[in-house]
Amino acid sequence: MRIIDKIYIDGAFVEPHGQEWAPLFNPATEEQIGTVRLADAQDAERAVTAAKRAFPAFSTTTKAERIDMLKRLHAAVSARAGDLVDAMREEYGAPSTFIDFAAPRAGNVFLDMANTLESYDFRRHIGRAEVEMRPSGVAVAITPWNSNYSFICGKLSAAIAAGATMVIKPSEMSAIQTQVVTECLHQAGLSKGVLNIVTGYGNVVGSALTAHRDVSKVTFTGSTATGRAIIQSAAATIKRVTMELGGKSPSIILDDADLDVAIPQVLSAGFLNSGQACIAGTRILVPEPMQGEIEGRLKRAAMAFKVGDPADREVRIGPMVSRKQWERVQSYLRLGQEEGAVLLTGGEGRPEGVDRGWFVRPTIFSGVRNDMRIAREEIFGPVLSVISYRDEDEAIRIANDTDYGLQAHVFSSDPDRAKRVADQIEAGRVIINGAPHEPLAPFGGFKQSGFGREFGVFGLEAFLEPRAVIR
Ligand code: NDP
Repeated sequence: MRIIDKIYIDGAFVEPHGQEWAPLFNPATEEQIGTVRLADAQDAERAVTAAKRAFPAFSTTTKAERIDMLKRLHAAVSARAGDLVDAMREEYGAPSTFIDFAAPRAGNVFLDMANTLESYDFRRHIGRAEVEMRPSGVAVAITPWNSNYSFICGKLSAAIAAGATMVIKPSEMSAIQTQVVTECLHQAGLSKGVLNIVTGYGNVVGSALTAHRDVSKVTFTGSTATGRAIIQSAAATIKRVTMELGGKSPSIILDDADLDVAIPQVLSAGFLNSGQACIAGTRILVPEPMQGEIEGRLKRAAMAFKVGDPADREVRIGPMVSRKQWERVQSYLRLGQEEGAVLLTGGEGRPEGVDRGWFVRPTIFSGVRNDMRIAREEIFGPVLSVISYRDEDEAIRIANDTDYGLQAHVFSSDPDRAKRVADQIEAGRVIINGAPHEPLAPFGGFKQSGFGREFGVFGLEAFLEPRAVIR
């Protein structure tokens, strides 16, 4: 049983003022594996005070010093990649396909940001003005449970590069992962107060941080509903906000797509991270005449997805993070049938032969209309909807007929056509034929998927304010 009883403030692991404890579970077994003592509003105050005290000196560090810090952070996080893998598997239940990407990436984001910084110019001239990009001040990062240490490292890398000090409030459900990554970050030897991590409830610590007048920037990843509450809280003191929120991403299969390429990619995108991913491609748009063939292939391929204990490397779909999340997904499985959609595969209950753990049957609904709630709301589980379209224009219209706009996939064997369709999709990222990840490209959403961008130059500038001196 892990007992996590410290938070990280001013360069040290300290006892929280908060007295409340929260249990930690292994979602594959439903067993309690630990307990975490939570920070409270007074701890949030201490953390902001430390970050504020550290800001003047840290904001004037040189580019070379920050690059050096980013390289130390990369080395420290990479050195414990194995422990991060174990924690993420045990506490969250992520399958190997996701962990194999997430664990190295957590360290690599620091190197990527160091590379961005190498070629970034903090000063430029515009006519008579000398423009300087200045760090925006004390920043707060609020992160969810679905990729906890990746979000911590990604947001921290941009703050360090910009010269901003940071207070991070991770999800309390990820306390073991947070503990491991905090130990790594501590090893990198940043100056006191530059980084502070206070695990606690969102409505206690999170709201204290987002309302704090000494905080000038909030970067948040999580649900659109919480994002809305944070924007309202941050509005009182006109904080800068970056919002990475939900999604209902379309995967458009065009009629000339190579289905041998498209089908595995569509399912990998849809079932990514057991479906607990903001970028999951949950709406599969298929040409009407090919619906039968595509659905047959999707069904066969989905049934071959192994569900179960993520310690098994063959497993493609692990458990939902919590009982609450499992029940939420079950409610959508019922709702889809009530709305008139037809189960192509999957459905309610646990997968066959599984008698414990918060496992969901990988599900594909057929006959879905884009106005059904299962096609409009973020389910956050392995539940996909097949929606048919008559022609390319209708495919684009359906793809864009959503409150969200985080990511989209287009599949076609004609690169020009794929690009033409991609250009008409309202989403922060459009991926053609399953192209590989591009770490320095901006990441973030249109519409209610949020605003602001992360990674590369765009992520760095989200922590900077331009100031012009004109003479
Ligand atoms: P939330 O958006 O509620 O939580 C994300 C983070 O915000 C957590 O650290 C949470 O803390 C914190 N938080 C909650 N309320 C506040 C507040 N008022 N002020 C400041 N911080 C706050 O997501 P959930 O974890 O509850 O998941 C619910 C749904 O959100 C999922 O089913 C999914 O649809 C979506 N989601 C989307 C993600 C994405 O990547 N876009 C990631 C995770 C979830 P605490 O945990 O204590 O509530």
